[in-house]
Order: sequence, then C-alpha cells, then structure tokens
Amino acid sequence: MRITVIGGGAAGMAAAITSAEAGAAVTVLERNAKPLKKLGVTGNGRGNLFNTGEPAYFGDAAFALAALARCGISELAKFFASLGVPLREEGEGRVYPASLQASAVQDALMLRANQLAIDIRCRMRADNITREQDEYLISGRQGIGDDPRHPGEEPFSLHTDKVVVACGGAAYPAHGTDGTAYGLLTAFGHRQTALAPALCALTVPQKRLRGLSGQRVRVKLWLEDAQGNPVHGSRGEALFADDAVSGIAAMQLARFVKEGMTLCLDLRDELNSEQSALPFVQSLAASRPEQPAAELLAGAFSRPAARWILREAGVKDLSAPISALGPAALRAVAGTVECVRLPVLGTRGFAFAQVTAGGIETKDFDPETMESRLSPGLYAAGEILDVDGDCGGFNLMFAFASGLIAGTEAGGGR
Ligand SMILES: Cc1cc2nc3c(=O)[nH]c(=O)nc-3n(C[C@H](O)[C@H](O)[C@H](O)COP(=O)(O)OP(=O)(O)OC[C@H]3O[C@@H](n4cnc5c(N)ncnc54)[C@H](O)[C@@H]3O)c2cc1C
Repeated sequence: MRITVIGGGAAGMAAAITSAEAGAAVTVLERNAKPLKKLGVTGNGRGNLFNTGEPAYFGDAAFALAALARCGISELAKFFASLGVPLREEGEGRVYPASLQASAVQDALMLRANQLAIDIRCRMRADNITREQDEYLISGRQGIGDDPRHPGEEPFSLHTDKVVVACGGAAYPAHGTDGTAYGLLTAFGHRQTALAPALCALTVPQKRLRGLSGQRVRVKLWLEDAQGNPVHGSRGEALFADDAVSGIAAMQLARFVKEGMTLCLDLRDELNSEQSALPFVQSLAASRPEQPAAELLAGAFSRPAARWILREAGVKDLSAPISALGPAALRAVAGTVECVRLPVLGTRGFAFAQVTAGGIETKDFDPETMESRLSPGLYAAGEILDVDGDCGGFNLMFAFASGLIAGTEAGGGR
C-alpha cells in the first residue's frame, strides 16, 4: 500500500508514522526545506502539545470531539511515550514535552520517521490531486524555496494508493501555510467555509494606547457588537503594543471580531477586586491629596498603565494636585478602571495569527476515520479542516489526534 501524506506538519507526521507502523510505504511531501517548522515555534518554543481540560473548539466542535473520542488524551500520551517524549502537565491542563522544548518533539518525530524509512521529500509543493481509477495522481512543483513568491522550476507527479492532506490552514504563511492548499480538497467537491485569523492580536487606534507599549495588565475583557451587546469574553493578561492588544486572553477573541466592535477591558483584576473601584479610588485620593494627579493610582497600577487610565478618564493636567480632582473626575477614573472601551479596527491578520478559524467543511469527512465521504482513499487531518481551538494546546491536540486517526485508517484500519 502506497500512502502519500501532503504536509509535514504535526498532523502529517503523525499520519505518516502511524500508517508506516501499519506497514504502508509512506511518502511525505513538504513544501518547506524541513518538516515540522511550525511545531518548533509553538508554545513560545515549548510546544504545548495537548490539554487535559474541557475541550474548547470552534468551527465544527462536534467533529473535533468525535475525533478526540476516538483518539484522546490517553492515546496521545501513548503516542508521545512511543516516541520517547516524556510529558509534563502545567497549569490549566496544558501538556508540554517534559524538556519544555518543542524541538525535542521535532527530533523524536523525525527519528521515528527515519526508523520507519518514511520517504520525506522537502521543497515539494503539491498543487493538484486527481483520481485515476483506483489510485491518485499528485502533481506540483519541486525544488521550491521557502519564499512562496519564487516557485520552483521543476514539475513533479507521483502515483499513490491513498492520500492524506494535512497542509494546515491560512495562518502564519511564513511557515508554509498560505491557504493555497484548500484547493487540493475543493477539487473533489469538498467545500470551504469562510476563513478568519484566530488567536491573533486585536488592532485598536494607536493614539488610544499611547505610552502603554510593552505593558502587561491583568484584565477581564470582552467584545461588544455595534449595538453594544457583549459578544464573547475572556480573562487573563493583556499585552499592549503601540496599536494592538495581545496576550492569550485578547488573542482568543480574534475569531469573533467583526466590523464596528468595541473591546472592553475591566482592569479590576489588577486590584484583585470585583467590587466597585470608586471607594478605592476615593480612598487613594484622600490619602495623597498634595501629590500630583499622575500619582493617584501609584501602587495599584504600573506607572504607564496608571497614566493611561487617567488620560482615558479625561484627566488633562497630571501635574495638578490630586485634591483638585473633583468627585466627577474620581468617578471617571473609577469608571475607567472598571471598563476601558476601545474601538476594534481589526486583527493583525493571517500573517500573525496562530490558527485559522474555518477551513474545509467537516460534514463530508468521517471523524472516526478522517476519510472523505466524497472520494474513498482521500483523507484530511489537522488545521486544514474547519476546526480550531482555544490557546492551551487544543490546536496541536486536534492536529495530532486527527493525524493519528487518518494514518491508522489509511494504513489499514484499527
Ligand atoms: C506561533 C504559533 C504558536 C502556536 N502555539 C501552539 C501551541 O503551543 N499549542 C497548540 O496546540 N497550537 C499552537 N499553534 C497552532 C498549531 O501550531 C497549529 O494549529 C498546528 O501546527 C496545525 O497542524 P497541521 O499539521 O494541521 O498544520 P501545520 O503544522 O501548519 O503543517 C502543515 C504543513 O503543510 C505544509 N504544506 C502546506 N501546503 C503544502 C503543499 N501544497 N504541499 C506540500 N506541503 C504543504 C506546510 O509547509 C506545513 O509544514 C501555534 C501556532 C503558531 C503559528
């Protein structure tokens, strides 16, 4: 049995290994110079491989859960153990390689692939798959560079019995995933849903974040739609740039961003309080009346964050004494601590997104096997499908799990 896996990412290498273990002759086609490039940067280089907590999926979440019911935490743990990768669980169910090095997982996957004599062909981009009687013909370009603007000169084609398409999505194109591979599956009648960057910084007007770049503030945050209805919320550390808000809590909202939305930030987690901020602000004002207004929130927030709050609250003269701030100004400061409202201009886009929301519609794939319902012997796994997860390891979890299922099934069944 000849199996060709297109895409040497997490899903593709998992599929290649399990199908080779089942006895198939496996070829991996990877457009980058090396497989598993993206895996190396995951989790800030630590590789958050999966999550033992409540699954948090979007797109076709039911499909993701059905796949994880077949290949879940214990199967994934077994797979990494078989590769010789000990695991370590950190907060919120996040599981990493015990070495906290994503590169260790890259090495272990490559070692196993070499042991199994998997034929890994790099700098090869598959552009078309066609079905010819009982086999598939894959064609594309070989010798391509990492720069998608300079395609290789040489065409290639190869025949195979089964194909696993594991080309990732449209996020982080610098790592070989520019969204062009969806066509490999739509050519068979599979449909593609709308795509959006997910797990990505939200952009806001630059002048509203003046002086805040590099600051981290613990917040509760949520998006409001154009009518002022709260849409989706999150909690954690917001990291500010000149014109954007990132950090896991903010990035998790990217998939919900639509035109005309507002980002609301409740800063009271910095005070470790859920109570109205007004009594606290009033007590600070009473305790330091002779100090300049700039010092009103000293001790509660970092200096840049404190100044930002005062500016957002409309306090113009930061050198005037705190005693000159009237009750309305103190109420405005407390109100700002409870909710800063920033118009959302958009997201940083696919170039910086960690994952793609949307993808190939899952209803034409069987989550038990990852096989296409439209073309037998054609499989898909990983981010190319309409499944995306929250931060915390859920995306690699689905990529590895669906890859393991596709590889096992393509290689000959359970
Ligand atoms: C910076 C960053 C950090 C992340 N951190 C985490 C994390 O800690 N935990 C987590 O769960 N998720 C994380 N993710 C998301 C996660 O990496 C992806 O969801 C996951 O890698 C998807 O796996 P995949 O195998 O489907 O696709 P990918 O890993 O993207 O692999 C697809 C492969 O296919 C190749 N390819 C594409 N088209 C073709 C073609 N036509 N022919 C040949 N080859 C092709 C690509 O070059 C690529 O190597 C992170 C993502 C980024 C960008």
